[in-house]
Amino acid sequence: MKKLSVFIYFILLSCSKDITVDESRSALEFTLSVSSYEGGTVNYDNSTDGVFSDGEIVNISAVANENHYFIGWSNGSRENPIKITVNSNTFITAKFINKQDLITRFEQIVIGNGDNGPVYTLKWRQMNLFLDGSLTSEFKEELGLFVRELNFLLNNDQDFSINQVTELSDSDVHMMRTDSHTFKGVYSEFEDIPLENYYGYALWWFNDFGNIESGKVFINSQSVSSNVVIRWAIRHELGHILGLKHTTEESSIMHPNHRPGVNDVFSDLDKEALRFLHDERMNVFSNTDESREVLEGILGINNTNKAKNKPNTSFESKTKPGGIIYACGK
Ligand SMILES: [Zn+2]
Repeated sequence: MKKLSVFIYFILLSCSKDITVDESRSALEFTLSVSSYEGGTVNYDNSTDGVFSDGEIVNISAVANENHYFIGWSNGSRENPIKITVNSNTFITAKFINKQDLITRFEQIVIGNGDNGPVYTLKWRQMNLFLDGSLTSEFKEELGLFVRELNFLLNNDQDFSINQVTELSDSDVHMMRTDSHTFKGVYSEFEDIPLENYYGYALWWFNDFGNIESGKVFINSQSVSSNVVIRWAIRHELGHILGLKHTTEESSIMHPNHRPGVNDVFSDLDKEALRFLHDERMNVFSNTDESREVLEGILGINNTNKAKNKPNTSFESKTKPGGIIYACGK
């Protein structure tokens, strides 16, 4: 009934020269649908049963359950409470994440399991990315989208930015979409590596200050051609360059293999893990125990078990500057 009345009112407006509009009636009305995903609830004044006048401002609060925390709204905002100006039919949903799931994901992809990366935190500051090779418009567009997404996601870190540059000499990271033979011609250190068997390779270096400062990315032009694989490969390989390691969790973008429809892009857990790496309270060279303590503090978890594991004896030797290489996808 509500939709019908709005529709009729539009008709009246569009041919209203000879019709007197009832001034006592409010202007256009729209519906506002507010909901929440698992892990919390939403509060707002809904005494008009979801129908609001054009331009009306509605205050909505997201309230997380004890074991969850609020990560933002479906429109991308993290503001809480949020003010929504109703000027069209609007749907908005609050998103929450389980705190322990976030800590687990952080330990998987940021700290790493030790098999293929250092077991501590490393952060970029400014990353200048140069893209070349066999480039399609889809590839360039997808990379541009992800660069914008990363700058928005990591806006909690004033020191971080990622930018595309037009000259290789101005770059820190060189991403090439090409065939394995051509890539090996440019970077001979890959000569003995079977690049052709994988979607991509990432190699990066960090310095004494715990900052990753350079990287090389191979994207296999022979196998990375469909849009869905391009989407995954760009995000997965740049995930490595950002310091993320592989995980056995199939729903993560950092699983070594692409699962179409399952891990095409960064999940909410992946995004939050990367965002927490860039929280100013998270120091570089933090290991599992140190980062867990920081995360629990940020998340407001009262950890009654303060017993620490023995220090990781190999940790010291791993804080030397170095590089890590990853083979990804098939
Ligand atoms: Zn990988």
